[in-house]
Amino acid sequence: MKKVVTIMVRKAMDYDDLLASQKMMVTKFHTHPEEFSISSVVELSHKEFEDFKNDLLAERPFLENRDGIIIVKEIGKSDFSGIIVQTSGFNYARYSGLPMRKVDYKKCPRCGEYYVEYPAISRKDNKTEICPRCGTEEAILACGYDFKFISFLDNLHNYANQFNVSITISAPDKEDVVIDPDK
Ligand SMILES: [Zn+2]
Repeated sequence: MKKVVTIMVRKAMDYDDLLASQKMMVTKFHTHPEEFSISSVVELSHKEFEDFKNDLLAERPFLENRDGIIIVKEIGKSDFSGIIVQTSGFNYARYSGLPMRKVDYKKCPRCGEYYVEYPAISRKDNKTEICPRCGTEEAILACGYDFKFISFLDNLHNYANQFNVSITISAPDKEDVVIDPDK
């Protein structure tokens, strides 16, 4: 049986919402991607698949009485371009997920959490790839701030994400710290 790796999202509205939710689950809630076994595949025409992607919560005849984990995709396209669906007895995509490759998410060796953004390089050896948050943390420690200050910055990081703004902190005798929202 075919296996896929993803994070299932409950009631994502459309493809963009699903992509954003999945990314947020990795970066903010540290959800680990899981492996699922595919029980059936639904192939749609290009137009039907586009329509499905744009409205994941619409009721679909092709989802009626489908148990287990389904891949819905366009005819002839790879599984990775499809959407993983679990109906849980309904006839719409109650749970959905985008297939993830191992390269789509990485585990940070410094904090042990998963992340999907472009990695930062550790200052310790100038080669180990770490998550952007750990990258910021190492930079801040290098600037002479302490761990208490880092937890304060952690909160600011959440605000930077929430409002999609960059925040610059200036202190006398220390380097400026810039906090950018996750891209
Ligand atoms: Zn990390």
